[in-house]
Amino acid sequence: MNIGRFQVNIVSDGFFKLDGGAMFGIIPKPLWEKSSAPDSLNRIQLSLNPLLIRINGKNILVDTGIGNKYDQRFNEMYAIDHKWSLPGSLKEIGLTTSDIHYVVPSHLHFDHMGGATIKIAGSLESTFPKAMFIIQEQEWENALSTNPRNKGSYFAEDMRLLEKKKQIKLINGRYEVTEGLEVIKTGGHTPGHQIVRVADGTATAVYAGDLIPTKSHLKPAWCMGYDLFPLDVAEWKVSFLKEAAEKNWILFFDHEVEMKAVNIVKTDKGYDVAPISL
Ligand SMILES: [Zn+2]
Repeated sequence: MNIGRFQVNIVSDGFFKLDGGAMFGIIPKPLWEKSSAPDSLNRIQLSLNPLLIRINGKNILVDTGIGNKYDQRFNEMYAIDHKWSLPGSLKEIGLTTSDIHYVVPSHLHFDHMGGATIKIAGSLESTFPKAMFIIQEQEWENALSTNPRNKGSYFAEDMRLLEKKKQIKLINGRYEVTEGLEVIKTGGHTPGHQIVRVADGTATAVYAGDLIPTKSHLKPAWCMGYDLFPLDVAEWKVSFLKEAAEKNWILFFDHEVEMKAVNIVKTDKGYDVAPISL
């Protein structure tokens, strides 16, 4: 897909599952299970949809997927399915993990940052040895904090390895990777959550990370139980959806299984998605 001068591919790190209740916060199960049917353990199927953006000979990866370095217990708990893996998916579009110049994780939870490292003969290595990771300072601090609420969501050893290899660039707020490719701090899901906006001429596309992970999360009140600041997420969605519908923006979903890129359409009840062909 082309967004003006930018070549954009949705790549894949496969599938995983999370608890349906946690994915929909305060929304009662009889409502969310209509669009996201849970399995016998109450988990719903999710996809891992990083984005690869190419411009002027530079390759920018947005999110790294969950990765492939876990033990059987972890793989089973999250039903990790590597029918596709990020390295394999990059290969399909003619790239290797060494070709990535920048990685922009939406935030540092393991399903977005786990793919940043691999295990080789039992030791942790950087998956993208030549890449600089662009991360909000506040997200970095939160990921390394010892707050019990954060403990299960971040893998501090990934962050420490990349820091040791001097692959971390901390930013504060808005940051332009190159003209037309912007990283915007939103908070909401985590304190330093960020989104990526690609714009050229009249074409604009937004990777919203975990602010709108699937099409079922389009309604502003349908926020995740994982969100640390759900009021901010809901407010962000209200203003984003209005602008996206008016200006015909493309929205990429980071965890949607079926419809990974959509346009937003205004309806009499609120907003809906219109699939776009890739
Ligand atoms: Zn996520």
